[in-house]
Amino acid sequence: MVVKVAINGYGTIGKRVADAVSKQDDMEVIGVTKTRPTFEAFMAVKKGYPLYVATKDSLEPFENAGLHVQGTLENLLDEADIVVDCTPGKKGAGYKETYLKAGVKAIWQGGEKHEVAGFSFNAMANYEKALGRDLVRVVSCNTTGLCRTLYPIDRDIGIDWVQAVMVRRSTDPGDSKKGPINAIEPVLKVPSHHGPDVQSVLPHININTTAVKVPTTIMHLHSVVVKLKREASADEIIDIWKNTPRVVLVSGKKGLVSTAQIMEMARDLGRPRSDLYEIAVWEDGTHVVGDTLYYYQAIHQESDVVPENIDAIRAMLELETDKMKSIEKTDRALGILGGDI
Ligand code: NAD
Repeated sequence: MVVKVAINGYGTIGKRVADAVSKQDDMEVIGVTKTRPTFEAFMAVKKGYPLYVATKDSLEPFENAGLHVQGTLENLLDEADIVVDCTPGKKGAGYKETYLKAGVKAIWQGGEKHEVAGFSFNAMANYEKALGRDLVRVVSCNTTGLCRTLYPIDRDIGIDWVQAVMVRRSTDPGDSKKGPINAIEPVLKVPSHHGPDVQSVLPHININTTAVKVPTTIMHLHSVVVKLKREASADEIIDIWKNTPRVVLVSGKKGLVSTAQIMEMARDLGRPRSDLYEIAVWEDGTHVVGDTLYYYQAIHQESDVVPENIDAIRAMLELETDKMKSIEKTDRALGILGGDI
């Protein structure tokens, strides 16, 4: 069976999800929507994705720009088995009625609240619970990063509590509107939304987070402190991560001392758009003192959620009931690494 996937919103996440869907043999992109005839709409056509408009009023600007569109979102949904909503944060919830009316399954991204779908997804943590579901939210890039590294530690060792600081990029590389460009901006609300968001996937984890925005566009960085349920060595923790999909161990000793070199490494890997789907954890930045674990991880915000969207599609359509088989299939198609670099 090849399932028909519609992508509503062809921006940073939407275009990556479209390309990742195209690389799987059990799903296909039947169309993408745009609201404005920007270069991304032209690129979608060049790549061969059928182009649709989100609303009827957008038809004219597209035709005026010389872009032929196949129809509206409603027309696209008529043909789809599932829609991946990649509209800007807080816009996606407004489409819920449209998706329900069209009778399609829907996936939202982390910019929406948990309540939009009533279920928040991370493949390793809760794939089985997504089987056959109609509505799912793939959690944000930061939450995905925290779930990827905390879930296996909790499973194998046990976690008493987590305190984590999110050092956040100010915006994505393709955006010239947001900042800060010369300041450090703390999120004054504590906990930041990331801790409660991890609990939307792993409710039993006692986690608090704070967040700070810094003038960089390439990655987020997390400084994480975990009180373990028992003593463990750093080597034991590192071995757990080496055996965890979508986590890659990097090392300052090998010159990977900042997010700059990690992104250079991603460019060297020759990935599309130099994406790094894996969470990069510093092996030599992982320390255990007594029963307290300290580590740093870097998150490529534009791409880490992409394989999660693929697994969510597979689980919701029950194309694969075994989580590890789905994860391996996705990772093989996207060339995702495990272990260390
Ligand atoms: P984006 O702004 O890059 O792309 C959004 C796309 O939706 C654009 O193509 C835009 O033309 C289109 N759009 C705008 N309004 C629309 C509407 N009303 N209907 C249909 N399409 C519309 O946004 P993004 O960064 O891709 O974010 C999408 C979602 O993914 C958000 O929920 C965001 O929080 C989440 N997310 C973003 C990142 C990231 O770092 N960019 C990481 C993880 C999750």
